[in-house]
Amino acid sequence: MLKINVAKTSALVLLAFRSVFMGPRVFQDLYSLSRKTRSRALWLRAMAVGVLNQFRYPRRMPTFHQCQRCTACCRWPGMVKLTADEVASIASFLEITVERFTAEFTDLRSDRKGLNLREKQNGECIFLEGGDCAIQSHKPQQCRDFPNLWRRPDMAGHCQATPVELDLEEYLDRVSAATGRPKSTLKGLI
Ligand code: SF4
Ligand code: SF4
Repeated sequence: MLKINVAKTSALVLLAFRSVFMGPRVFQDLYSLSRKTRSRALWLRAMAVGVLNQFRYPRRMPTFHQCQRCTACCRWPGMVKLTADEVASIASFLEITVERFTAEFTDLRSDRKGLNLREKQNGECIFLEGGDCAIQSHKPQQCRDFPNLWRRPDMAGHCQATPVELDLEEYLDRVSAATGRPKSTLKGLI
């Protein structure tokens, strides 16, 4: 007669439930925890979740968008918002005062809640010089985050970024390098 181990069956059902309803990130969290705690039980669970995820999320590998520097996003209409730290940082990079930077390169946002980069008459960002950003090493976080942490619905057909499917660790490494954000802060953003 077939004997059913209630504890093991319940654990497997719970595992399947968590895998299905809590998403692919469960695998990464369990795996990291198993390495930190050196727990073989957690490692086995991570592996089981990983296998289940292959069925549940067969096409959901994270996709990194590799910028091709076509500069289309520097020509789109829209605001590049600046934080106070970014204003100070870019002014320092340009070796001018914050007051001069504010007067020559920024405008008050339409909601009057801060500054954005000024646009040229043709709508380009004021710092776009041919095919280059004149403040590349100090460009605002909003620019760094595009197109991996935010996108525009109308970007398709304009942004030339190449999609690359990666495993989660490499994806996080690449997004961290592209945005300048520490890897540990990315999980809440993607
Ligand atoms: S600051 Fe640089 S990257 Fe950002 S929109 Fe302007 S030219 Fe483009
Ligand atoms: S539009 Fe896309 S590919 Fe072109 S510069 Fe911006 S992010 Fe890069």
